[in-house]
Amino acid sequence: MDEKIAPHLEELTRALGDIEETGIRAEFDKLLAYRVPPDVAKETILRKFGGKCKVLKVKDLSANLKSFEITGRILDLGEKSIRPQNGITPQEGVQEGSSKLYTGILADDTGSVSFSSWKELPGSIGDVISIRNAYTRIWQNRIRLSIGEHSLVSKVSDSSVPSLSELSGNQAKKIIDIGAADFSVKAVASVLQLTHREVLVKGRQSKVVSGVLGDETGRLPFTAWIELPGIDIGSIILIEGAQIRVFRGMPSVNILSSTRISPVKPEESEKLAFNFESAGRDPLPLRMDEISSRDSMFDVAAVGNLISIRPGSGIISRCPECGRVIQKASCRVHGKVEGIRDMRIKAVLDDGTGSISVTFPRELAEAIYGKTLEEAEQLMLSDVSKDAVYEDLRRFLTGRCLAVRGNSSKSEYGTFFTAEKVWVPDDDLAVRVVELLHRLGQDEEDGQGIDAQDRDAQDRNSQPSNGGIDLA
Ligand SMILES: [Zn+2]
Repeated sequence: MDEKIAPHLEELTRALGDIEETGIRAEFDKLLAYRVPPDVAKETILRKFGGKCKVLKVKDLSANLKSFEITGRILDLGEKSIRPQNGITPQEGVQEGSSKLYTGILADDTGSVSFSSWKELPGSIGDVISIRNAYTRIWQNRIRLSIGEHSLVSKVSDSSVPSLSELSGNQAKKIIDIGAADFSVKAVASVLQLTHREVLVKGRQSKVVSGVLGDETGRLPFTAWIELPGIDIGSIILIEGAQIRVFRGMPSVNILSSTRISPVKPEESEKLAFNFESAGRDPLPLRMDEISSRDSMFDVAAVGNLISIRPGSGIISRCPECGRVIQKASCRVHGKVEGIRDMRIKAVLDDGTGSISVTFPRELAEAIYGKTLEEAEQLMLSDVSKDAVYEDLRRFLTGRCLAVRGNSSKSEYGTFFTAEKVWVPDDDLAVRVVELLHRLGQDEEDGQGIDAQDRDAQDRNSQPSNGGIDLA
């Protein structure tokens, strides 16, 4: 028997590494015990564990990821006995007395994340482990790294993961480096927005402070469940031990009673790379492939060409109760209602690296279209085609270069961006084309050289073609 399986074991070792330590050998033996032929067992194991595994860092972790590989140092590890009961099913086939849940913190050079494992780990605090077929779950609004039945964990003896003392040091992070899974965050930031509100938490009125934090690299929303005396818009603060929670896919900094908040002294804040004004400025545009690769991003900018205007753009009717878009004066939830007129534009913006679906609410739609809702209504009434406004939008906007600022979120249908601000970027593509034509000596018509349709557009919008105008 051993002679028969030896080549298969060799092949598995070549493909998957140390099969003894990772428990693959045990899986293989289990299949043989069920009288599965060795070559079939080998194929099964390769299929199960040998699939291409994306290698991720802690910073890359978002909700509901599957089948990735991650390597990190164990910062904390504990175990608790879980009695098998409804809702909690330990790994199938675990031996008696081993229905333990191992929980802890795993860290690499990009951050730290809490994890849970039904398996005993081949390492303890301070050791580096590598997990294949890991996945993430949302647990109490936080991202948790999960080690399950199909995960393979091995101890890594020599690795480039920083030492325990370096990782425990909890270095201050720039806002852009804060990952959605970050277990504990230390950062220096300016309070850009701040609101107080009362919410019902477990039947009790509680005061909540929420707002936006920013530095020279980015911005993140925050929620404080404690009072923040002396802290207001414009304050520069040091935050230590904050949690990152995920709400509707968007990471936010949570300030709890265990979080330390201290104001940064004026003489100290002068040395920082940002101040209140600079942290609130328009962010530099990101590449769209980068935006699309992230789960969601708060307050980022992008520049691209409007390659298409999507149906559903133009004048719409909303339910006065819930704000849903309604058809034929009937809301899906509230039935027959008197709709409120609204205008929006949904468009695909493309920068060559990727594309995002952008929604422009009324105020921004009016600005980029150059027509108010009332003017658009006039057009709708004066034209026989019911798609008059949509067609007009398409003619007018397709191909234009725009910069947008807002929040993005990813779904199975693509990346959706809600614009909160829009402007014509300085290096408008139209301007660059004109410059090119000038150089080639092909532009003899006038000093602008923008094609007829675009010039018409410019006139109607009464905007200079050289852009730089903030439309928002
Ligand atoms: Zn409604």
